[in-house]
Amino acid sequence: MGGKSAPEPTRAEIVRLSVGPLETNCYLVADVLSGKAAAIDPGDETWRIQHSLAMHEWTLAWVLVTHAHFDHIAACGQLADGAGCPIALHPADLPLWWMHGVADQMGIKIPELPVPQHPLVADETIPVGDLRIEVLYLPGHSPGHVGFYLKQQGWLFSGDVIFADGGVGRSDLMGGDESILAASVDTVLHLPDTTEIFPGHGGKTTVGAERKLRMIY
Ligand SMILES: [Zn+2]
Ligand SMILES: [Zn+2]
Repeated sequence: MGGKSAPEPTRAEIVRLSVGPLETNCYLVADVLSGKAAAIDPGDETWRIQHSLAMHEWTLAWVLVTHAHFDHIAACGQLADGAGCPIALHPADLPLWWMHGVADQMGIKIPELPVPQHPLVADETIPVGDLRIEVLYLPGHSPGHVGFYLKQQGWLFSGDVIFADGGVGRSDLMGGDESILAASVDTVLHLPDTTEIFPGHGGKTTVGAERKLRMIY
């Protein structure tokens, strides 16, 4: 009692919302102290995402997009407009973005998309309050696919590159490439074993568990 208190460590929190017809994981990542949050892959159901932000009293600072397939982007415009925050996308996925993430070909209508203001660059750092989100370039599922890595927390938001229980993303969609995707999976599996992986669909896993499943030691 009355002792010197250590500086408070950054408190980070994740909320997962499964949205839309393909049950895409939209993740809210927040710096709890400042109340600033990023929304990763708001694929649908804008109101639910906004409701969750409001419930937590978080302010949206960024809309971060792993890749421009429709099931990861459909709520981007409404969400960013409402919060007055930028949308960040790797420029190699802009052609997909302007094709509505191939929604039209699948007979699905999504709301109009604005111009993404922030072109993501490999290895850049996005600040969200005191959180530092690193951009890992992980192409192959799409040309401009990225992962969002919080080194301090040991968290990776991996989009559609790698999934729990040995799953790997598709490489047969527009701009996909199987060998490039394999290299991106390899990049992920070289992160520390304790890294928690939060994929674009399904439950979370760890780098260690996925390495073991693939018999990579
Ligand atoms: Zn995808
Ligand atoms: Zn997806």
